[in-house]
Amino acid sequence: MSRFGPRNLPYGVFSGDDGVRRVGVRLDDTVVDLSDVDELCRRPTLNPLMAAGPARWARLRRAAREHVVDAPRIPLRAVRLHLPFEVADYTDFYSSEQHARRVGQILRPDRAALPPSWRHLPIGYHGRSATVVVSGTPIPRPYGQRGAGDFGPTRRLDIEAEVGFVVGVPGDRIPTAAFADHVFGVVLVNDWSARDIQAFEYQPLGPFLGKSFATSVSPWVVPLAALATRPAALQEPEPVDYLRPAGPGFDIRLAVEWNGTQVASPPYAQMYWTAAQQLAHLTVNGARVRTGDLYASGTVSGSRRDQAGSFLELTWNGTEPVTLADGSRRGFLLDGDTVTIHGVAAGADGADIGLGSVSGTVVGQSLFEAADTP
Ligand code: MN
Repeated sequence: MSRFGPRNLPYGVFSGDDGVRRVGVRLDDTVVDLSDVDELCRRPTLNPLMAAGPARWARLRRAAREHVVDAPRIPLRAVRLHLPFEVADYTDFYSSEQHARRVGQILRPDRAALPPSWRHLPIGYHGRSATVVVSGTPIPRPYGQRGAGDFGPTRRLDIEAEVGFVVGVPGDRIPTAAFADHVFGVVLVNDWSARDIQAFEYQPLGPFLGKSFATSVSPWVVPLAALATRPAALQEPEPVDYLRPAGPGFDIRLAVEWNGTQVASPPYAQMYWTAAQQLAHLTVNGARVRTGDLYASGTVSGSRRDQAGSFLELTWNGTEPVTLADGSRRGFLLDGDTVTIHGVAAGADGADIGLGSVSGTVVGQSLFEAADTP
């Protein structure tokens, strides 16, 4: 059974031969144009639709389900898919306990694996929205300081398999219970990371150039209404009031392919902090989220090593390489390598639905090319 049947209907922005961008839904391996269903779909991004709020989203979803029954279908191979929304601010969290513990063990073996605040609030940082790109966009290997006096292309280029949440309705001090009134839907995220640059620069202010060069997202935004909810992970100690109730968990299963070889299967269901808590925390100080804000879960890593959402963990900082199908071994990414993250979720109607995939290929660059390329 198709994971992109009428019970899924994720939204995307596509163009055909005329180059005009408009909003459609994915149905199996086709796109159905929604321009004639809602005037908010005759726009080059999802932002106007996302800003319109849950009542409009529900109305369009009902109309789209009826429309796709006999609407013309355009094969996916005949369209170009674009970044589906204009990214306002980008925030990234750190909400997988397994990921945080392993990173602590690898980078700070002499200290406690979890930072002191980790169980009290969802740790995060503000990223760079201008470098969020749609799946398929090449990823130039970034340059930076790999250590004192050591400038050059990163030698430890990594991925972070994450789930991203896209804000539709603006707000501040958003209670966890209002999560679904503000969040439009879900995308897959690959938060590319340069571990050597990151390790040298991150203390005391945290992620900077090692994380800001590229973040890839999947082209299809799966509406929250398409996803089944499940109880969130148990939290101990009980969080402070503004982080309660925890809000829904989601059963999203990721699969990471490295040059076509599946190397990991990170389970979002094991995340400690929920997306509702992340949004509540992000806005509790009065900071406002805008239409098009993207906030990502943080690297999704499960309890088993083959559930790790980063190569840092999977290869233990490159010391335990993985073997790909062609027999080659990898610690971190080489130029020409392609990483594709697939996602499947429990759907609201019982059957699994697809989140599609997010893919990117690493390209080497000389400094001159880096300066000259527009
Ligand atoms: Mn990340």
